[in-house]
Amino acid sequence: MKTKWDQLFAERTRNIFGSQIRQYFALTEKPEVISFAGGFPGNEFFPTADIAAALSGLVQEDGQQALQYSSTEGSLELRSLLAEKMCRENAPCSPENIIITGGSQQGIDLLGRILINPDDPVLVEEPSYIGGTSAFRSHGGIPAGIAMDHNGPVPAAMEKTIKLLIAEGKHPKLFYTVANFQNPTGITTSYERRLRIMEIASRYNIIIIEDNPYGELCYEGEIPPSYKSLDLEDRVVYLGSFSKVLVPGIRIGWMAGPGPLVEKAILTKQSTDLCSSSLGQQLACRLIREGFVEIHTRKLIDLYRRKRDAMVKAMDRYFPPDIEFNRPRGGFFVWVKFPPSYPISRELLTLALQHNVAFVHGEGFSNSGDGGTRRARFSFSQPPLEHIEKGIKTLGKLFWEIGTDQTLKAT
Ligand code: PMP
Repeated sequence: MKTKWDQLFAERTRNIFGSQIRQYFALTEKPEVISFAGGFPGNEFFPTADIAAALSGLVQEDGQQALQYSSTEGSLELRSLLAEKMCRENAPCSPENIIITGGSQQGIDLLGRILINPDDPVLVEEPSYIGGTSAFRSHGGIPAGIAMDHNGPVPAAMEKTIKLLIAEGKHPKLFYTVANFQNPTGITTSYERRLRIMEIASRYNIIIIEDNPYGELCYEGEIPPSYKSLDLEDRVVYLGSFSKVLVPGIRIGWMAGPGPLVEKAILTKQSTDLCSSSLGQQLACRLIREGFVEIHTRKLIDLYRRKRDAMVKAMDRYFPPDIEFNRPRGGFFVWVKFPPSYPISRELLTLALQHNVAFVHGEGFSNSGDGGTRRARFSFSQPPLEHIEKGIKTLGKLFWEIGTDQTLKAT
């Protein structure tokens, strides 16, 4: 008898779906495609020689520790360095309140495991990071989107959603937010909004998960104080990562949170992977101690700013004026809005791929509202600088043709 897999999988796997971004990976990976789809860092910015030298030094000088398991919560030295960093950023925290995680993605997953019961609502931004909502769904959570404007999540929308959920007998416990240069919109939540959202969270006893992988990549101005730094009630869990300021391949991030949550997260992590990569942790320690991460981040800011400028300038020049887009002050993403006279963004993507250019249509990021059908995420981080204008120019030509060709226009 052939194995009947559908009889074998656990109930909870029903809520695990492939991300639409992965679906398009095979297409976008073709060398002739200019891809604005994946939100990966620019490979050409990886400091390979410095990492090779640091790794070689590590293994030679401290190999016995660097190649051994570490404690589940992670290296005390790395946690101490991160606690100092958080204190410098006015978010006081001690090494005991920090766990080293396999990227911030593992932090999201651990929080989902610890906090979500099947069918629990989870408040998220509308639109929101797919990796976050997928993780919550995989633990039985049901994302509820909170509308955003250019200042971040709208407090009135948040309160309305909470009240509606409570009226249905469901109390939301969590709000997941990427407050700096959000994935996918590039929006940064203003200081005033952060205060109002903290106040609502306090009133309804909601935990804030502050996921901040992009905050250091700020190309102009400054980011507002973190939720963690505004937290007087121990209700914010902060997730940080080395993926964007160093390399994602080391899979090192951290969670800084209230004691009871951290304790549960350590126990949960123990059965997940015992510990995060010791080599990755030691490497991060060494590169922070030597001041390398800080210097490299400053370089990255200049390099990514150039890519951001190239994308926004090209969109300005080549896109028809009825297509809207923002100019993010940091991070990796430009959020594009198509008017209703165009085909929906999923169909536009199919047409774009025929011209060897890729982006991500907005549907997967959406958990309410317009369903993202008129939206698309354009990531400028990965394509080489010289491909950005070329790709946007090709799309601009296509969009102008669609905009003027009534047979292609949506009815
Ligand atoms: N959160 C957000 C908002 C992200 O965009 C990403 C990466 N795309 C992650 C978390 C996961 O990053 P990490 O490599 O730190 O797991």
